[in-house]
Amino acid sequence: MNTQLPYYHQIGKEVEVFEHAYKNKIPFLLKGPTGTGKSRFVEFMASKLNKKLITISCHEETSSTDLVGRYIIKGAETIWSDGPLTTAIKQGAIIYLDEIAEARPDVIVAIHSLTDHRRELFIDKLGITVKAHEDFMLVASFNPGYQKGFKELKPSTRQRFIATSFAYPEEKIEAEILVNETGIDSSMAKKLVNIATKIRNLTELGLAETVSTRLLVDAAKLIHSGLPKRLSVEVAVVEPLTDDLEVIEALKDLCNLMI
Ligand code: ADP
Repeated sequence: MNTQLPYYHQIGKEVEVFEHAYKNKIPFLLKGPTGTGKSRFVEFMASKLNKKLITISCHEETSSTDLVGRYIIKGAETIWSDGPLTTAIKQGAIIYLDEIAEARPDVIVAIHSLTDHRRELFIDKLGITVKAHEDFMLVASFNPGYQKGFKELKPSTRQRFIATSFAYPEEKIEAEILVNETGIDSSMAKKLVNIATKIRNLTELGLAETVSTRLLVDAAKLIHSGLPKRLSVEVAVVEPLTDDLEVIEALKDLCNLMI
């Protein structure tokens, strides 16, 4: 394997699927909770395919202007500046719209003509249509949280993508990821994964999001750099999950027993 590639542990058939999606330039939607390796997977694939990757983290203020471009004032002149989507289309890059459902609705409208056979972008402020470079590919991620506060994606938008679900990897693989990412020893990695499994099963806590692989990686990094184990788990795993003092105490007790 090319040592230059970012580290990514394949979970299912996602690498193969992405390669074929890329060959056919079919937009790709990655579904799953935060910290399950979606961004890492896209970085890995872009690198493997030797393509430039442009990532946009969407939030509720992200508008089509942010992606397509705008006029800016430079000295006495007003000049047009391409946004990241327009740049990706012209250069043949892979664009990754992380958390696409968070963006304003006009973003979804703007990408429609890019997600079907037209593969073109209409830039209304310039009154022109730009054809996508043949290497251009659109990738987006979406967190289908069943909890309140997560935005939905309309079926008419979803059906413009092929989709793969990301979840927490099985225990053995997750421990391997921790070892590879942080250099922690495998018995410690297993303990961290056991803690995560336990907390993930405590659905009665009503956590908006549970322990992600990202949190475990952070805990492992702290432990590896010499912070005491219990403190590492408290600050990297327990505290980010909730602000409820009783739940924090209960989770701390549970983790202390397991580490
Ligand atoms: P997401 O984009 O789903 O929120 P990330 O891709 O940022 O999640 O993953 C968070 C971290 O978890 C990564 O930085 C990496 O350390 C680790 N990780 C999760 N899944 C994997 C995997 N399959 N292979 C390698 N690292 C992973």
